[in-house]
Amino acid sequence: MCKQCQKNPVYEFTNKRRLCKKCFIKYFQKKALYTLRKFKMIKKGDVIFCENKKDFRNVVLKDVLELIVDKIPVKLIKNKVKGCKIAIPSTIDSEAEKIVSEIIRGDIKKLKYAVEGKIIKPLYLFLDEEVLLYARLRKLDKYLRKLKKDEISFFLDNLEKEHPEIKRAIVNSYLKLHDKIKSECKID
Ligand SMILES: [Zn+2]
Repeated sequence: MCKQCQKNPVYEFTNKRRLCKKCFIKYFQKKALYTLRKFKMIKKGDVIFCENKKDFRNVVLKDVLELIVDKIPVKLIKNKVKGCKIAIPSTIDSEAEKIVSEIIRGDIKKLKYAVEGKIIKPLYLFLDEEVLLYARLRKLDKYLRKLKKDEISFFLDNLEKEHPEIKRAIVNSYLKLHDKIKSECKID
């Protein structure tokens, strides 16, 4: 954090911590790298496919992956090849929606984790709000398409207004459940 963080904040976390433009971009990129490491999403020599869509999640995903290519020796491609990893632009918002809709259908075991086979989700720990702000600050938002929202996202958006952090809490609870199921499977 710098002096500007208090003077010119662009973002405030629910715990009142504030970040200026420069520090927010730094925070975002660091957290994206942390997510990749935490869930072991990529390793040296990986070939990663990322779709060239123009919605804000995808544009930011591409930006973040391009930064990673500079740090970790992996290759980013535009057309799928055999054995490549597929990066998809899931965020806390989209994951929370999936979790809630699977719970309504009663099939939590169908849920997908942060990494599932060849599929990786580098934006797994970010809110849409953060992804959108990053797109704006990095000036990636020129030609962005809006995302369609369904009933569950409408429901969750309202819930989040009343209970900040609820989306993050849904994803975190799911992660704990996932670890529990995994450890029980190992014992059997
Ligand atoms: Zn700052």
